[in-house]
Amino acid sequence: MTVKTRFAPSPTGRLHVGNARTALVNWLYARAHGGVMQLRIDDTDRERSREDYVAGVLADLDWLGIPADESFRQTERADRHAAAFERLVACGRLYPCYETPEELSARRAAQLAAGRPPVYDRAALALSDADRAALEAEGHRPHWRFRLDDRETSWEDLVRGRIDVHAGSLSDPVLIRADGASTYTLATVVDDAETGVTHVIRGEDHITNTAAQIQLFHALGAAEPHFGHLAWLLDAGGAGLSKRVGSLAVAELREDGMEPLAVAAFLARLGTSDAIEPVAGLDELVASFDISRFGRAAARFDPADLVQLNARQIRRLDAEGVRAPLVGLGVPDELVAPFWDAVSGNIERIAEAGRWWQVVAGPVTPVIEVDETSQAVLAAARDTLPPEPWDETTWSAWTRGIQGLTGVKGRGLFRPLRLALTAAEHGPELKKLLPMIGAARAAARLSGQDA
Ligand code: GLU
Repeated sequence: MTVKTRFAPSPTGRLHVGNARTALVNWLYARAHGGVMQLRIDDTDRERSREDYVAGVLADLDWLGIPADESFRQTERADRHAAAFERLVACGRLYPCYETPEELSARRAAQLAAGRPPVYDRAALALSDADRAALEAEGHRPHWRFRLDDRETSWEDLVRGRIDVHAGSLSDPVLIRADGASTYTLATVVDDAETGVTHVIRGEDHITNTAAQIQLFHALGAAEPHFGHLAWLLDAGGAGLSKRVGSLAVAELREDGMEPLAVAAFLARLGTSDAIEPVAGLDELVASFDISRFGRAAARFDPADLVQLNARQIRRLDAEGVRAPLVGLGVPDELVAPFWDAVSGNIERIAEAGRWWQVVAGPVTPVIEVDETSQAVLAAARDTLPPEPWDETTWSAWTRGIQGLTGVKGRGLFRPLRLALTAAEHGPELKKLLPMIGAARAAARLSGQDA
């Protein structure tokens, strides 16, 4: 059996990190088991589905490095869904219902008020042929429900272990709407059954759907796939992600300068018992992947934690890995390696290197403090500025000399030099920046001139 997972987004919005985690876990599961991942675009809701969202899903998966191995749109298989509907009607598992949405919600409200679960009461099963004929004559079109067997449905969940759901707690699902369109439930089971999906991994909000879907697989004469239900992802404030897509969209993280590998490393381990660490590549995530390590408790997605991981992740990149963006920020080709060596530990996003390139290349408006110590240090620094060429040993030799002349050491020595040379109190090691700043700019800055 070749493992086939699937990621099945509805193109009704941008992918948020919760969706991206589902996609990633499906991709990792497939890769870790020598299988493939299918992308199914669940576009049966024609009113809310949009082409730009479909394009966004593809772009986001590509960016994360987890493109699907095969893909299709659910609407392409409408004839297959219709054929399955005919079969289910023929074998007596479907029944026509005529309630309006308003009637159904009034009934649900009454059930809840009486402290009962809001399960469909199967009133339509009691309709006689004459009742139905009368309703049709009045212009009512039926929707069709799948009659669940009144029994317990159980499965060994890849994440949560054994799950038992009694059909008594479920409404008979609607498979065909009054306008004749198939619902998600019918389309998803027919597609999963007919396209060879072996593992369905999705959010825990689908657990009750799974119980009904397993019965539908069986009614269609198909074996059900394995199921795994991932716990919710919450935002940093503890709210469910689906409620607020905005800033936690994958596209937003990309625009914010997060590296795809950092996002993948974060999402692959969030909610597991494994430490969240930078990784060498997706292969490392595949090699260490074990779906049973995901817990049942909801995990919080805190963007601040992702930024920290991003900072650690980019530190692992060598100069070749950042040459293109750094050259784009103005760093000359021959300085990419020493520049990256100097700044990679001081930034959280690659684009932030641009600020430090400005400090190297200038112009910088030096910060000169007027206290006596600073003035003495800067005077000695100007007097003893070493001749070029400069290398990483220049800084310590030079500052040792300044210390000898002025008797100033530690913070009193380094602070005025850093402020004059970089206009900042903190930053990359000066022994690494200094050779790139060079003697001409250094001399000018020590004298308080923009350079
Ligand atoms: N389109 C459904 C959703 O986004 C797919 C659920 C499933 O994986 O079956 O919730």
